[in-house]
Amino acid sequence: MRIRGDRWPGAAIMLNMDPNARKLDAVAIRCEARLSECGIRPTGQRVRIASLLLCAPQHLSAEQILATLRSSGARVSKATVYNTLNLFAARGIIRQLSVDGSRAWFDSNVDAHYHFHDTSSGALIDVPVPEVEFSRLPSPPPGTEVAGIDLIIRLRRKG
Ligand SMILES: [Zn+2]
Repeated sequence: MRIRGDRWPGAAIMLNMDPNARKLDAVAIRCEARLSECGIRPTGQRVRIASLLLCAPQHLSAEQILATLRSSGARVSKATVYNTLNLFAARGIIRQLSVDGSRAWFDSNVDAHYHFHDTSSGALIDVPVPEVEFSRLPSPPPGTEVAGIDLIIRLRRKG
């Protein structure tokens, strides 16, 4: 994945004649703007990580993101990836999901929605909010109010 240089913003775009590379550049440029908007300095590594996650609606674990970055030749530490993902989640660019406690998942869709979790494949599938109705909820303890509800519907293969 090509990330445009800091010094010559247009140079990387003009050199890329491959349409897929041009598409990635467009994603990188959008991500760079998004990071700046959220008060995050858009370093090359941050833009790479944001581009990976935000190029499509998807759910990725920190391990998958690290593996993808490394397979594309990026020299990036696990700590950098985790710190960057936590920073993005804290600023509302992505959403961290607690799925099973064994790994951290990150969702590029920050709009309200729920999830199916296929326990055999590990896949997460979005469930739109209007498809779920809660008929009864406990009253929140005094002095508190409900800030949000997470719902993960676990799936297994039949038979
Ligand atoms: Zn989702």
